[in-house]
Amino acid sequence: MSQGQFGFADVPEWERAARDAVLLAEVVFNLPLERPYTYAVPDGLRDLLRPGQRVRAPLGRSNRLVTGYCVGVIAGERGQRPLKELESLLDREPLVDPSMLELTRWIGERYLCGWGQVLDSVIPAGVRNKSGTRELQYFQLSEQAIELLSGAGSGLRLSAQQRVILESLQRAGQPQTAAELCALAGTGPAPLAALRRKGLVVPFRVRSELDQESGPVGHTEQDLLMNAQQQRALEAILKPIRESRHETLLLHGVTGSGKTEVYIQAIREVVSYGRQAIVLVPEISLTPQTIRRFRSRFGSVAVLHSHMTDTERHRQWQTIAAGGVHVVVGARSAVFAPVPHPGLIVIDEEHEPSFKQDSTPRYHAREVARRRCEEARVPLVLGSATPTLESWLRANRREDRLVSMPQRVADRPLPPVLIVDVRTDPRVARGSSIGRALHQAITRTLQERGQTILFLNLRGYSPVVWCRTCGTGVKCPACDITLTWHRDRQAVVCHSCGWTTDPPQVCPACQSPAVRYLGAGTQKLDEEVSGLFPQARVLRMDSDSMSKPGSHDEALERFRRGEVDILLGTQMIAKGLDFPNVTLVGVVDADTMLRQPDMRAAERTFQLIAQVAGRTGRGERSGRVLVQTTSPDDPAVRFASKHDYVGFAGHELSERRDTQAPPFSCVARVIFRGLDERRTREAAIAVADRLRAACTGELQSLRVLGAAPAPIVRLRNYWRFHLQICGRTVELVRQLWQAVERSLEMPEDVEFAVDVDPINSR
Ligand code: ADP
Ligand code: ZN
Ligand code: ZN
Repeated sequence: MSQGQFGFADVPEWERAARDAVLLAEVVFNLPLERPYTYAVPDGLRDLLRPGQRVRAPLGRSNRLVTGYCVGVIAGERGQRPLKELESLLDREPLVDPSMLELTRWIGERYLCGWGQVLDSVIPAGVRNKSGTRELQYFQLSEQAIELLSGAGSGLRLSAQQRVILESLQRAGQPQTAAELCALAGTGPAPLAALRRKGLVVPFRVRSELDQESGPVGHTEQDLLMNAQQQRALEAILKPIRESRHETLLLHGVTGSGKTEVYIQAIREVVSYGRQAIVLVPEISLTPQTIRRFRSRFGSVAVLHSHMTDTERHRQWQTIAAGGVHVVVGARSAVFAPVPHPGLIVIDEEHEPSFKQDSTPRYHAREVARRRCEEARVPLVLGSATPTLESWLRANRREDRLVSMPQRVADRPLPPVLIVDVRTDPRVARGSSIGRALHQAITRTLQERGQTILFLNLRGYSPVVWCRTCGTGVKCPACDITLTWHRDRQAVVCHSCGWTTDPPQVCPACQSPAVRYLGAGTQKLDEEVSGLFPQARVLRMDSDSMSKPGSHDEALERFRRGEVDILLGTQMIAKGLDFPNVTLVGVVDADTMLRQPDMRAAERTFQLIAQVAGRTGRGERSGRVLVQTTSPDDPAVRFASKHDYVGFAGHELSERRDTQAPPFSCVARVIFRGLDERRTREAAIAVADRLRAACTGELQSLRVLGAAPAPIVRLRNYWRFHLQICGRTVELVRQLWQAVERSLEMPEDVEFAVDVDPINSR
């Protein structure tokens, strides 16, 4: 379905041009359907309906009324087969603009889900429910006006007064009401009306209470004087900005190389053109420290995170859409921030798996950002010390531009990383988590008044509840997962569904009382460390201890103030922290990542060691890293100990090439789930057979693996089966899926979801 089909027509003009024509609306629903439905537009809605508004329309044989999104208004001819009519219109104004409509259409196609599903996920609930609030009309510069003002003359003739209005609006830096604008420019209303007719200023509606909030641009701190390496990186980003073209730049900079300062100065350029920048960071890095770094440089920064109420989110969305902020900082979904004139998108820590959404639409923010930047003809910057192999391969093939920052700021050395083989460690043999070398290192760090970070990727007290008699793990009754012992709560917990119960007195399988707790999670580590170093102040950070809102930030502040000697926790503490007094980082068990049954286990282990190593040696004091493992010869561990990303990437890519695994191919995973095991399995097998049968002609090179039980075959009482489609390109995979999808007949009680480029293999 091509974009041209759904022109964003000006309704009154249509009316004049074709008085006899029937007006048709293309409507998509929150359903996994690829094509829009066509409805006749009743006369009463002709002048009001525009793409981007919600409508209610009869659907299916029962004609029940369902809310959908109008995605196009087209002229049809009389005499076509009778069509159903739209019932009503829900919004006075479109909720999204044409560029966002096109982006969401693309996401549906790229990730094999419904356009309506994408729209429903992208538009915040608070925005959808805004109907009925009092609105004020503001004016902002159009894209064309910005080009005109930047000297890219478009041959439009302007009167002197019109030009003064445009310049005043640009100087104001945010939308103005008609009255404010005329006062600023010292003109009457006529020139403004003329500019509006020429499409150089466009109205934008915001709720009246925003009035006081968007306020003047606040105090800003001075930029840092950049070193030569940062200067080079900045120049590389400024080039496409100044040439108004898209380019994706992979900023490969070691931890502490000063990437953030490069982003900030690139954003400064973009803001000076009256455009806005979006900075995506992992949710976990949205700390006050990060936000302060941007707020102190740019007055108007909007922050989007997942803990906002609908009302807050709606207000932010409106402010952003009105051009009221220069910079948007947020987690994954901020890639959809409705900035009117995007000038740059930055994705920091682009390797983070949280940039992929784990529910429909299962998009990756990096690919959505790439598409959005291509359409807007602006650059995309991906920053990381440990880029994904997907991004690394693209840069090596010159599809994206590689910019390297191999040195830390002020020539601080990267910390030495010591690999400790714990297979022969006497303390570990006795059941301790802290081996001899790590014990000595912590002791010395405490004596030298440095701070220590200990990383362990398992929460709870004991990650395995085990029966010694029958030799099986005690599993959650709803999931195929062994339970974790949480000593603080005196309960066993399922980490998949949250099911919690008293610790079992006897094994549920064989009734033996020989139930034991094996392994160590962060709670047990906390207990051990506190016992070994009674004089030290220890703080545990994991999702159990940090469940109260704000506790995460508060804990980091205490650590920063030096009120904590040893910070231990899960990946919560592995990312982005910048504390100069951390002189020791210990990875308690590197094997937990390495042993995952996942094609990215090596990549994740390398990233993890490199990232935690990046938490030390960031200040005047030097730091060091100890990694405890039983696989000291594993390539991921060896390369990480040498800080050799390039070596690791080369090694891992050659393995992936040999097996034609991503990024050398595209995979789509189809997950089936249902309460009845047999019907779910049979449905999955039937779809796999249909797909295999369709692998003919142009699609001959595709492979379909499975159907097979998913790695977690039961989750929250649902049985799970999956299959994988593997092809050379995403286009081929899409063609195969679409060849089969339309005629799929699933049992009522079996659902499926498609995951393109899956990174979660559960
Ligand atoms: P990265 O994101 O690459 O890990 P950061 O941007 O956090 O690195 O920078 C690391 C530290 O170096 C920060 O404390 C930052 O303020 C400081 N820094 C960055 N650039 C400079 C510079 N040009 N001069 C002095 N300090 C700098
Ligand atoms: Zn048993
Ligand atoms: Zn469970």
